[in-house]
Amino acid sequence: MVKQQTTDESGEAAPRRPAAKYRQLKVPQTVTVGALAELMGVSTIELIKQLMRGGIMANVTQGIDFDTAAALAPIFGFRAVPVEPSAVKAVNVSSDEEDPSLLQPRPPVVAILGHVDHGKTTILDAIRTTRVAEREVGGITQHIGAYQTTHNGKKITFLDTPGHEAFTAMRARGAQVTDIAVLVVAADDGIMPQTVEAIAHIKAANVPIIVAINKMDLPDADPDKVKRQLSEQDMLIEEWGGEVIAVPVSGKTGDGLGDLMENMLIVAEVAELRANPDRTATGVVVEAKLDKTRGPAATVLVKSGTLAVGDHIVAGTTRGKVKALINDLGKRVKQAEPSMPVEVLGLNQLPQAGDAFLVVENERTGRLLVEQRQREEGAPRTGVTLEEMVTQIRMGEVKDLPVVIKADVQGSVEAIRDSLVQLNTEKSQVSIIHSASGAVTEGDVFLASASHAIILGFNTRLEVGARQAAEQARVEIRLYNVIYNLLEDVQSTLEGLIEPTAVEVVEGHATVRAVFSQGNRGKVAGLYVNDGRVVRNGMARLSRNGQVIHEGPIASLRHFKENVREMGAQTECGMALEGFNDFEEEDVIEVYRLERSK
Ligand code: GDP
Repeated sequence: MVKQQTTDESGEAAPRRPAAKYRQLKVPQTVTVGALAELMGVSTIELIKQLMRGGIMANVTQGIDFDTAAALAPIFGFRAVPVEPSAVKAVNVSSDEEDPSLLQPRPPVVAILGHVDHGKTTILDAIRTTRVAEREVGGITQHIGAYQTTHNGKKITFLDTPGHEAFTAMRARGAQVTDIAVLVVAADDGIMPQTVEAIAHIKAANVPIIVAINKMDLPDADPDKVKRQLSEQDMLIEEWGGEVIAVPVSGKTGDGLGDLMENMLIVAEVAELRANPDRTATGVVVEAKLDKTRGPAATVLVKSGTLAVGDHIVAGTTRGKVKALINDLGKRVKQAEPSMPVEVLGLNQLPQAGDAFLVVENERTGRLLVEQRQREEGAPRTGVTLEEMVTQIRMGEVKDLPVVIKADVQGSVEAIRDSLVQLNTEKSQVSIIHSASGAVTEGDVFLASASHAIILGFNTRLEVGARQAAEQARVEIRLYNVIYNLLEDVQSTLEGLIEPTAVEVVEGHATVRAVFSQGNRGKVAGLYVNDGRVVRNGMARLSRNGQVIHEGPIASLRHFKENVREMGAQTECGMALEGFNDFEEEDVIEVYRLERSK
């Protein structure tokens, strides 16, 4: 969604569809609000809003029963039916609570980021070739998107696609794969634009960071300069009293790489990375390619459980029975434990990097789950608009307004940053995920999507691909030519967040049974109250064939010529609306009141 200095968009009428289009939705006997939103492919916020309209205050993790879910489903175009037990199991598998006593340490998964030519690939290759022990047993290194190595008897998994684009693209698909990020900075070159971007991406992901100061073998290596520059990026290294671990290395000579790995293990230890290996596997696809002879081949990382040959799996919207598992040395293995990269053969199609996978009970469950996910596909889930942000903060889900700033020149970037900080209040603040000069890139969109941020552009344009990515990920990009307008929008958002706002409380529903003319005083609808009550001081939302066609105040409410304040369910009454006369029989009127929320 790209908006050019947008004005406020109100009138967020609930999505209503004609009855004929209701699709069947399998719903468990109890389901969390979050899971139901996911099943229907709608935003959790939208669902919570609808629940509030029905007088139910619920949060994302709260369970609701089938009847409540069934009452909500039509609003989103679904007809709820109770789910069969096997499918429930598959759907719930990823949210199973783990018993802490079953958890065992697992190797860290490490991603390497940094500016181009600073030595990311060289370091990855150098570490890979230290795998002497494995090579002795005859394995040939296979590039499957990730590999595992052993240091001091402990395993470390490396993602083989360096750079923040891959890192954040996966995150934007909802996958949290990386446990530790290694930021490579060449000691002769120092911090460069992509280093700054990488730092923003790592910070947004909230992943521990280790800096590798590379190319220490070069005569003009200046590690102190790198450390100084890091401190300017709010990354104070340990020696200087900060928390950032910086390790001098040379990818070329291999110096310092042992120390680098040692530090990865320390960070992993601190992070207490654990998984339960004794359960059905779940994990993430890190790479997928179509092999002419073997068909779709997907490299996956197991996050929890153990994946075995013969398992039925679903990855994104693909599925299959695992025919073979091949490790990073090209050897067939029978199973894969947590953090172990392995290539899976047997999927019916090519999944995407970042897709979650899970093992399901049988082929049928797999098919059901894929069908369910296909229904959800295309349903935007990651992006968020400025208006939605207001609702989210109101719900207490977030108190920050995360933004990515792109502007024509560095001077504007700084001016905007400084002014935005001034807008912060105690209750809500702008959180700048990333700011830089230049056009809005696809990478910015992924970053914003993964961080639920909006993009604010000043005197800048969109790079090819960014627009499409934004539309797909439903990331809002607002472009401005006047800084004042940008600041004003942000300020009013922040103020909207902290000021009490009106929430709707639905009172009841009525159907138009007849329409009476009152001459020049307009028309009155004869109503039958279906549920709840209708109230004189309420608002009316009139829909016809599932489409809302009018919304506004109620002008009068009568019962046998008497003015009344309210009428209960299963009664008849007459209602006139302010500024609306075009009633038709069978129109449905929802009556609600606006109340101040806390
Ligand atoms: P990437 O773009 O970050 O993956 O960088 P590469 O690994 O492709 O390295 C870019 C260039 O720097 C290559 O010519 C490497 O040989 C060279 N290079 C990488 N690491 C070192 C190092 O530690 N010392 C020296 N002298 N050159 C290095």
